[in-house]
Formats: sequence, C-alpha cells, structure tokens
Amino acid sequence: RDMTVMVTGGAGYIGSHAVLALLDAGYDVVVVDNLVTGFSWAVDERATLIECAIEDEGRVRAAIRGHHVQAIMHFAGSVVVPESVTDPLKYYRNNTAASRSLIESAVTEGVPHFIFSSTAATYGTPDTETVSETSPTVPINPYGMSKLMTEAMLRDVAAAHPMNYAALRYFNVAGADPQGRSGQSTAGATHLIKVAVEAATGKRDSVAIFGTDFDTPDGTGVRDYIHVSDLAAAHVAALALLIAEPGRSHTLNAGYGRGFSVNEVLDAVDRVTNVQVVRNPQGRRAGDPAALISDNSAILKTLDWTPARDDLDLIVADALAWERKLSERA
Ligand code: UDP
Repeated sequence: RDMTVMVTGGAGYIGSHAVLALLDAGYDVVVVDNLVTGFSWAVDERATLIECAIEDEGRVRAAIRGHHVQAIMHFAGSVVVPESVTDPLKYYRNNTAASRSLIESAVTEGVPHFIFSSTAATYGTPDTETVSETSPTVPINPYGMSKLMTEAMLRDVAAAHPMNYAALRYFNVAGADPQGRSGQSTAGATHLIKVAVEAATGKRDSVAIFGTDFDTPDGTGVRDYIHVSDLAAAHVAALALLIAEPGRSHTLNAGYGRGFSVNEVLDAVDRVTNVQVVRNPQGRRAGDPAALISDNSAILKTLDWTPARDDLDLIVADALAWERKLSERA
C-alpha cells in the first residue's frame, strides 16, 4: 500500500504490535515515541523512529509533512489506573492534553484518518455483565476519564473538519507477537497474565488474587482477554474502513465477547507452563468491577476482522514465550 501511517507510542506494548501489523500489510510507518516507557528496540527496523513528544507540534507537523502521513494511530499515553488516581494531572496531561495537541497537528496538516486507543475503563463499573458501545460511559478513575475526554474531542473535531476516526475501546490486552518479534516488556507490570507468566518463569514467588468474593461463578474477577496481535489487526482493519468510507467514524469495543476468571487464567498458566504458580488470595483492589466483558457484535459486523487467536491457552503460550525471551536477554 502506498500510504504512510504515523504510530504514536509505537515503541510500547500495543503500539509495537500495530507497527508490525501495518508493515506486514504493506503500509509505511513512522513511529513517534518519547521512549519514556517504550523501547527503541521494540520498533521494527522497517519503520522510522522519531524520538519526540506527541505534543511537540513543530516536530510532529514536520514529520507529517515530510513523510506525507495520511493516517495517525495514537497509542502514546499513560496506562496505570492506580497511578491515575494518585496523580490525575499526569493523566490529563499525557492522555488528554497531549492528545489535543496531536489532534490539532493532524487537523492543521490535513491528516484525513485518526485511530485512537481507548479503553473499556470508559464504562466504569457497568450494571450489565457485557457492555456495548451504547452502555453508559461513567469512568470511575482519571485514566478512563482522560480517554473518554479524548473520544469527545475526536467526535467534535470530526464533525468540524475533514477527518474521520475510529476509537477502539480495549478490554484486557495480553499475549505477544506469535512470531516472537515483540511482547509486553514493561518492568513492574501489573496485568494478570504478565504477572502470572513472570511467576511461572521464577521472577516472582506468587500471584496475588485480588478478591475471591465477587458475584462471579468462582468468586474471582472475570475479564475479556484479547490477544494483542488480534487487537493490532483490528486497527489495520479499522484503517481500511476509514479510508473506504471517509465521512464515517466509529467507536468500537475491542474484545472477544467472553470472559475468564482469575482462577481460570491461572489454571491456563499452570497448564501451559507445567508449573503450579502459587496463588495468594487477597482483598479486592480498589475500583475493580466483578466482571467486564465486551459485547463485540459491533466490531465483528463493522470491520473486516476475524479474531485468529481467541484461545486463552494460546494467549498465555505467546506471553510465556516472550517472557522467556526477555529472561534470555537479561
Ligand atoms: N488480578 C489479580 N492479580 C494480579 C493482577 C490482576 O487477581 O496480580 C485480577 C484483577 O483484580 C482483575 C483481573 O485480574 O480481576 C485483571 O486485572 P488486570 O490488572 O490484568 O487488568 P484490569 O482489568 O484491571 O484492567
């Protein structure tokens, strides 16, 4: 394809997988990343890496012009929910305000397509076990609100300027590139599958189970885990749709539409690794809903996208393979 896509946060976990998916689909890619949490080695060599902040409008606009960028996929941001509670202004700066600058650069330079990393945290604590795009958006933490505010900006900008957008609301992203080219590399990660494969590879003694008395079948929290490579593929499919239908924008849940409990995830980790990870039951974490599962009928209907790795053991196996690679590197 004769098109250049700018990927912000392309040195991070999900962004680096989107870079791979775009390159594999034939797009040219320019990554903008300040490398605060990302890694330059995570950016595929076929992409151009520009080390700068997304709110540096001078450099971002020069890059858009210089590379004839026709679409922006925006992953850069801060993602730690508890930190957003203790340092909300960091989230309104890095997520909301920085996105505003980036969107302004896109509008000023006439970039026609924009794809945004949103989150199921925009729903807060839902009343229903599955949430659809029309469910109420009542974030319960600054992280979710910082992303919802960006969605609002995109909606208003798309109504006023010749730009269409897709906002993908991610559920629980896990796993790693099946070819072993990237994976979750952040030290001190808090996400369940990452923590569990760290335990299975001897980097932790145990895995905490945050809450065993939820109103769920086994009392532990239920989540909709989606493989990062399927999520990356959904972004490429969303881009194709934005190109095909210039006047239309989309907000879509990105999940598999089914859930697994913490115990089911840990069972899968034990099965795949042949290690009995030590489980350490604890109290609930602040703000954790009992269950968060996508109604994914809209994304399945709207995008030319079929999940290829909707299998908990596959997700865990890919996460484990990457974890072992990280161990060899260390
Ligand atoms: N969880 C857990 N132990 C951990 C990390 C997470 O029991 O070390 C639980 C958490 O309470 C939730 C689920 O696993 O029910 C997924 O949590 P995670 O932090 O991975 O993602 P979140 O759903 O909070 O975005």
